[in-house]
Amino acid sequence: MKRIENILRKLININTTNPHGNEMDGVKEILGFFPKGIDYKIVDHENNRGSLIIEIEGKSQKKIGFIGHIDTVPVPDESSWIHPPFEGIFKDGYIYGRGAADMKGGVTAMILTALYFIENHITPPNTLKFVFTADEESDGIGVQALRDKGLLKDLSSVFIAEPSDEEIGICEKGALWLKIHIKGKASHGSKPELGLNAIEKLYEYINRIKDSLDLKKNHYLLGESSCAITLINGGVKTNIIPENAVASIDIRTIPGFNHEEIIENAYKIGQKMERENKGIVVEIEVENNRLPLTIDEENDFIKNIVSVYKKLNYPVKFKGINFYTDASQIIPFHDIPFVILGPGEENMCHQRNERIKIESIERMIEFYISYINNC
Ligand SMILES: [Zn+2]
Repeated sequence: MKRIENILRKLININTTNPHGNEMDGVKEILGFFPKGIDYKIVDHENNRGSLIIEIEGKSQKKIGFIGHIDTVPVPDESSWIHPPFEGIFKDGYIYGRGAADMKGGVTAMILTALYFIENHITPPNTLKFVFTADEESDGIGVQALRDKGLLKDLSSVFIAEPSDEEIGICEKGALWLKIHIKGKASHGSKPELGLNAIEKLYEYINRIKDSLDLKKNHYLLGESSCAITLINGGVKTNIIPENAVASIDIRTIPGFNHEEIIENAYKIGQKMERENKGIVVEIEVENNRLPLTIDEENDFIKNIVSVYKKLNYPVKFKGINFYTDASQIIPFHDIPFVILGPGEENMCHQRNERIKIESIERMIEFYISYINNC
């Protein structure tokens, strides 16, 4: 218990809020928990940013991966927290701080799982690869660099140790962010017929996109897909018909949605509107494209997790994760079994007064070790 608390507090003490991230400070701190002579690799992303891989050789060459990110989201309102966000205060069984749940608690569980095998000189049945990444809360430069260097292609399965309420996360929503720019023609507000109103055309365009998506389709764990306008800009003055309008839309998709089709359709709608409204120009930019992911409950990897859960008397409950994780940068490229399963509450992510129960980390360490020993 004390050791979990100490490690987590030290990780929270290091400010790895992203932007800037400074994950290299976290990498050094994590390495400091390990004895000399371990097998590790640091990947430098420059500007004090880096990711870390620690490998423990097993009896077989099969490699089980554990992935956790080192960065956290920022703290916009430090003074409104009940405990200072970088102190890692312990109270009533919880540790408070930025990243406690998302996901320095999961990182602590990974570190202590690795140390269990190293310190007890136990050779695990399979090789273990503990991957600590930079920049998950932004563009994912950490996991992308590791993937592009081929450092993840030897994994045969992967645990994403994000806070899942200790439930077994077998799917996650995809995200597709589109930026739409409509250029029309300005005219005097009293003569709208002489102009091409970019804001009104943008509004129409977004409604057409929404209508083209089957947002009522339901997934048994993830619910429905969504399409939200999250940024909008246009016009210069009340009495001028606007020439330019720009908006970003955030589309979140359940498994079964084909992002390529949505993108193709977005271009088609743009072209159709250009034909219908001579003179307007529709430009579309894909700002983020993360595919929805899912794994079958009957997949052997998931079945093994369930059997270890039962052995430990943990309640078995499947979960869908609404946000995307580092898995979205791995699974579409290396088709391996995955699960999102880690300590802490999903609802605590990015919240003020973020906290995690020490017991939750303890249970997850016990689970990871049992899984490794039994599979
Ligand atoms: Zn996270």
